[in-house]
Amino acid sequence: MAGTSKGGQSESVLVVVRPRPFLERELETERVVHVVNPQTLIIDKYVDDPLRYMFDTVLTEQASQEEVYGQVAPIVDGVLNGINGTIFAYGQTSTGKTYTMLGAQGLASWADDESEGGSGGADVFGAEAAPADDGGAGLIPRAVQTLFAAANRAGESGDAAISMYCSYLEIYNEKLYDLLQYGAKTKRDLSIMEDKERGVYAHGAREIKVSSPRQVFNLMQQGLRRRAVASTALNQLSSRSHTIFQVFVETVVHETGKILRGKLNLWDVGQHTYVADATELKELRNINQSLSALGNCVNALSQRGRTHIPYRDSKLTRLLQDSLGGNTRTAFIATVSPSVDSVEESVQTLKFMERSK
Ligand code: ADP
Ligand code: MG
Repeated sequence: MAGTSKGGQSESVLVVVRPRPFLERELETERVVHVVNPQTLIIDKYVDDPLRYMFDTVLTEQASQEEVYGQVAPIVDGVLNGINGTIFAYGQTSTGKTYTMLGAQGLASWADDESEGGSGGADVFGAEAAPADDGGAGLIPRAVQTLFAAANRAGESGDAAISMYCSYLEIYNEKLYDLLQYGAKTKRDLSIMEDKERGVYAHGAREIKVSSPRQVFNLMQQGLRRRAVASTALNQLSSRSHTIFQVFVETVVHETGKILRGKLNLWDVGQHTYVADATELKELRNINQSLSALGNCVNALSQRGRTHIPYRDSKLTRLLQDSLGGNTRTAFIATVSPSVDSVEESVQTLKFMERSK
């Protein structure tokens, strides 16, 4: 994959910027974000100096969901070959994170309306076929579809057996929770462990075996509901938490008996916009801490000869320790609005991304 290159060193972090089209409410506002070429974007107004940013990929507002998936496809393919991968979208509210990760309809069009085993919902995926009429599907449905298609192919050819497990974790104020099992009053801070076979993992978190894309989306939906209910009960802002959906892929190659283990981390970053009181300030600090810890790790990894990588500075980086650096692949997708209404937030987003290159 096309990594960034610093001093000739190729890295496994891909930084993609996706500006979205103007929304209806922005139609009367001025454009400040301009895509100059496939690597360059400028913000030319309401900033002290015109800002020029370079990234691995700068998409246009017309970029299709398929095109965006093309950027991260090597990450998904890597997971099938035992290479850990991480994909995350970063940007201000309403810049297109959900659109990018899930699609125009969010999760609703993929999951059953009822919980696990429910029968509602359109049958979005056959065993093999891509959702031909669903151009709107985001990265996650496409990634999940790709993984199951590979599993089906391997099963049919008899070359390998691929099994998949999912977990869904939440980080709130530097505490780690399992979105697949907690109730409003039973959130339990999990510890992070590591072993040779499994790598880094959240001790005690459920890892649920999945055998169809539908089951994956249902788990996501259950987790999101649990998060919403618990946040309300505990008077917490769910927008201030990070969530990580993980898909563990285990491939047993029949001929050699070799077992390949790869995991795909799908990270949904917390929001960090307005601060009203002290509690929120703490939450905000913790979100920023996770983000800056992540930025510091990625930055340290990109410096030749740096041996100390500060993974331990946050729960997030600790959890992603075996998914960042080394034989891993990561994509940061920054979403921005083209409008002057969001110019400050866009600058912040792009500055954070620049640091992560
Ligand atoms: P976020 O998750 O960052 O808060 P959303 O994904 O909900 O933002 O997007 C906000 C609005 O913008 C939604 O109505 C969404 O459909 C629309 N939108 C976002 N990105 C795009 C895009 N690339 N093309 C068309 N519409 C988009
Ligand atoms: Mg969203």
